[in-house]
Amino acid sequence: MTYEVIARKWRPQQFSDVVGQDHVVQTLENALASGRIASAYLFVGPRGIGKTSIARIFAKALNCETGVTATPCDTCDNCREIMASTSLDVMEIDGASNNRVDEVRDLRETVRYAPAHGRFKLIIIDEVHMLSNSAFNALLKTLEEPPAHVKFFFATTEPHKIPATIISRCQRFDLRRIAESEIIERLALIAKDEKVKIDDDALLAIARGSEGGLRDAESALDQLIAFRGKKISEADVLQVFGLVSRRTLDELSEGILAGEMASIIGQVDALEQAGKDLQRLVLELMDGFRNRLVSAYTGEEGESVDAERLLRICDILSDADERMRFSLSKRILLETALVRCARAARVATLEELIVQINALKAGGGVVTMAEAPAAAAPAPTVARRAAPPAAATAAPPQPAAPQKPATAKPKQVAPAGDELATLQAQWSKIVAHAGRIAVAVQGALKDACPSGVEGDTVHIDFDPEFATELSLFESPRNRKAVERSLANVLKRPVTATFQVGKERPAQVAETRAPEEEYSVDVETPAAPEPQPTRKGNAQAWKQRDEVKQVLDMFNGTIVDVRE
Ligand SMILES: [Zn+2]
Repeated sequence: MTYEVIARKWRPQQFSDVVGQDHVVQTLENALASGRIASAYLFVGPRGIGKTSIARIFAKALNCETGVTATPCDTCDNCREIMASTSLDVMEIDGASNNRVDEVRDLRETVRYAPAHGRFKLIIIDEVHMLSNSAFNALLKTLEEPPAHVKFFFATTEPHKIPATIISRCQRFDLRRIAESEIIERLALIAKDEKVKIDDDALLAIARGSEGGLRDAESALDQLIAFRGKKISEADVLQVFGLVSRRTLDELSEGILAGEMASIIGQVDALEQAGKDLQRLVLELMDGFRNRLVSAYTGEEGESVDAERLLRICDILSDADERMRFSLSKRILLETALVRCARAARVATLEELIVQINALKAGGGVVTMAEAPAAAAPAPTVARRAAPPAAATAAPPQPAAPQKPATAKPKQVAPAGDELATLQAQWSKIVAHAGRIAVAVQGALKDACPSGVEGDTVHIDFDPEFATELSLFESPRNRKAVERSLANVLKRPVTATFQVGKERPAQVAETRAPEEEYSVDVETPAAPEPQPTRKGNAQAWKQRDEVKQVLDMFNGTIVDVRE
């Protein structure tokens, strides 16, 4: 028996086998059931998530001898030929290698003739964005007046490179990255069938490493079987893919929250020595903190770190991720980022400072360093800054269980209508916030508007004129930036979907939100040029309660006393 790679052997043959793309599959099944078949379909999404597999199933569905059906029989000649890639009625073109205009002209010639056996001629063009401009022009001529017996399926990872004239003639489907839990489930099924013993941690590690691409995950399993045979452990996966173990990630996260600088730097050193992928590490840490953030918003048990701090940590990591991509000294960037994270976990937020300053004011006048305050007892409401290390370490380590879905049940959900109104009213604030997490999205979001809230999903519509900007949101990083900003306003985790809207929604009256709640990372004020300190005076000031509180609040020292 010849060896067949797992990804090929396990390629879905029926819509019901397709993993994680229910929204697409359902629509296609309905179209088949009602006979409303468009002449061109465009499948958009990252590699290895099922775009061409869906196109092939659709091809069988249209040409199956049992009739147009959402469940092709897989046994008739037409179905079998399509599965074996020998059907004369199905042309599969790889846009990357057939980008010459001649080939598309040939294609135009081909589509003139009636199909050989089936009902339709089906043209599948993968990586369609790779076609040259002249090839697109030739293709457009066919798309403008498609013969009734021809259907096109385009697949692309980069829709923004496809001319709008082509896109506008297609029914577009955005496929999503596949959730870790779904990948794990699939891999477990495959492993069982292949009689491979693989533990849950190893499955999770493969899923983590494949970043939502099922085909990558399946190829990884193949590679591991070749490397290890029929018994695979987490250590094998980590070794092959340069990943860091879940336990190490947890320890590092706890170290950050507890502000243990020495331990953080030691761990980074060890990970680098072990040849781990540091860029990956940042992404995985970010993911972990994002999960904590979700738990903090949903008030889940066990999350005692407050959301504002977690947001700041996520911001720092996101920034580090970007910078590390272009840097050769990843380790230094990583170390400084993690040290900044550890500080961010412990420094007061602006909101807290304002509350405390207000409390001080209420208690006895404005305290400034330049002006002698009226001697006053500290307001009883002034809480000493919560000592975060204690709070932080109280958080139990994240269990190594498969990542919980981001859509954990919120405790209370406002009616969707109210939430939509809130989102629309605060849209400019959301855009600004998302822009701070991922700069690239800010411009694009200005041409968009939230159009609906359904359960944990927020729909965002783009002005058709700016449809090409949708592709920006295929990047999980950009999508997450938006989701985080939405979550920030709704106070619960949400998933965002991006699509082209019908028309530009009437300009929403934007109540300009009070400018962003910037959090400050107050440093020990570094005096540019240390003034002669009147030491005695400083000592005396330090004894005063209100001064103590301010120093404590800002984590500062007195550098000068002016009287
Ligand atoms: Zn059939």
